[in-house]
Amino acid sequence: MGLQSISQNDLRAHITFLSSDPLEGRETGEKGLQIAAEYIASQFRRLGLTSLNPDGSYFQKYELLKIKFKSDPQFSLIYQEGSGTVKEIFSYREDYFSSSRGIVNGLEVKASLVFAGYGITAPEYEYDDYANVDVASKIVLIIDGEPDISEDIFKGDEDTHYSDIREKLKRAKEKKVAALLVASNPKKGEIFSDKYKRWRRWLRRETMLLPSSEKSVPLFIISSRTADRILANTGNSLRDLQTELENDGKSNAQELPDRYVHFILEIEKTSIITQNVAGLFPGVDPEVGHETIVISAHYDHLGVDDKGSIWHGADDNGTGTSAVLEIAEAIVWNTTPPKRSFLFLAVSGEEKGLLGSKFYTTQPLLPLDNTITDLNIDMIGRNAPDSVYIIGSNMISEDLHEINEYASGKIDNLFLNYLYNSLDDPNRFYYRSDHYNFAQYGIPIIFYFAGIHKDYHKPTDTADKIDYAKTEKIARLVYLTGWGISQNDVRPRKNAGEYPEIPDRIKY
Ligand SMILES: [Zn+2]
Repeated sequence: MGLQSISQNDLRAHITFLSSDPLEGRETGEKGLQIAAEYIASQFRRLGLTSLNPDGSYFQKYELLKIKFKSDPQFSLIYQEGSGTVKEIFSYREDYFSSSRGIVNGLEVKASLVFAGYGITAPEYEYDDYANVDVASKIVLIIDGEPDISEDIFKGDEDTHYSDIREKLKRAKEKKVAALLVASNPKKGEIFSDKYKRWRRWLRRETMLLPSSEKSVPLFIISSRTADRILANTGNSLRDLQTELENDGKSNAQELPDRYVHFILEIEKTSIITQNVAGLFPGVDPEVGHETIVISAHYDHLGVDDKGSIWHGADDNGTGTSAVLEIAEAIVWNTTPPKRSFLFLAVSGEEKGLLGSKFYTTQPLLPLDNTITDLNIDMIGRNAPDSVYIIGSNMISEDLHEINEYASGKIDNLFLNYLYNSLDDPNRFYYRSDHYNFAQYGIPIIFYFAGIHKDYHKPTDTADKIDYAKTEKIARLVYLTGWGISQNDVRPRKNAGEYPEIPDRIKY
C-alpha cells in the first residue's frame, strides 16, 4: 500500500544526502544544486515517471540573470542657493543604501521630488498617499511603516501588509515613479547602522531575476536625518510631516519644490541556466486523467557564505524535497493507479524570489487550466511534533480544504494549525513559497509548513535536528490529500462568487 511506503528512514536518507557538505547548500546556479537535481531525477527515473521535456529529461531548464552593483550606488541632492547650485553628496551606508533587486540595467537619473506620506493606497481605509500628487517620473520620498491614525485604521498597533516595502514598490511602479526613497520612521528612533546591518547580508549577495521579469522601481533606504536634509528649507522636518498626517488622519502628500535627487546605479549582469525537475505519473481515468495535481517543493537553498560556512538547508527545504520523492514513490507503488495525474515538481530559485515556480507557471509543462491543485511543501521537519501549519487551503476552494481536513483524520497525532492562514498575517507566509505563483492563476493551493526556528536561514539548519516522525506524518497527509483529490468525483471547485482577492504578483 502506498501510504506505508512513506517512511522516516527513507526521508532521513534523502534529507541527509541533500543537506550534506558536498552539496554546498544547493545554491541556484552552483554545482551543489546540480548534484541535487541529478539526485531528484535519478529517483524519478527509478520510479518510472514520465518526462515532459522535449529532450526526454526531467529538467525544465530556464535562464536567470544575476545582478550585482559594480560600485556603491551614488546618491546626491541638488538645490539652488542664492544664485548658485549646490550638490550635497550623501554617503553610502551612513546616509543611505540601495538594493539591486529588480534592477535590470544601469541607471542615471536626475528628477524632482515629491513627499508621499507612507506610499500607501488602502481603499478599505479610504487612505491614499497618491490621491493628490503627480508622481510620474519623479522621485518619491516616503516614511517606512504605516500611519498611526486610530484603532480602526490600519489595525492600530499591528502592521498590515500595506507596510511592506514590496507592496510600496509595486504601488510606486504603477504610478511610474522614478525611484522610491524610504526614510526610517522618525517615531521609531531606529539606529540607521543597525538597519544597514540587518539588510547587509541580502545586499551583498547577487540578486537574480527571470529575463522576462518586469523591472522594479529603484529603491533607496535612507535615514530620517537624510530625509531631513532633503526637506531642508521646506519649513518641515520629516517628523513634522508625519505628525501633521497622523493628526489630520489623511495624507499630506506634496511636491518638494526647487530640489532634485541625482543617483547613479552601475550594475554587472551575467546569465546562468538552472532547472526545475519535473516528473509525471499519468492518471488512468479516460475522462479526468488529464487533470493534474502538482506536488511541489523547492530544492534550492542559500549556498556558502563569505566565511565558507555551508548553509545546509536540511529543513529548508530538504524536508519538502524529500517528501515529494516519498509521495511520488507512494503514488507509483499504490496497488490502485490514480484517476487523475500527478506532477512531481522540484523547483529552483525559490530563495532568489520564487523564480523557479514563477518560470513554471509562465511556461507550464501541462496546461494550467487542467492543473487543479498545487500542494506545496516547504519546511516540515521542526517544532511541535504533532502539528502543521495549513496555509491557503480554503482561500480558493473549500472543497480542497475539506479533503485535507478529512485526510488529516487518518493520521494519528497530527493537528492542523490555521494560525498563519491569512493574507494579512504580518509574517506573510502565504506569499513566501512557491504555491503563491500557482494561486496567482486561481489554482487551489495548500502550503504545508511547520514554522521557522532558531536555525532558519542559518548554516545550522542540519539533518540531525529534523523530527523525522513528524516529517513522515506531514508527507503522509499530503499524500492522502493528493490521493483524495485524484479519486474524487469532481475536481476541487472554486469558491462561489469571489474567492479572496490575491494581490497581484509582487515584484521586488
Ligand atoms: Zn523554503
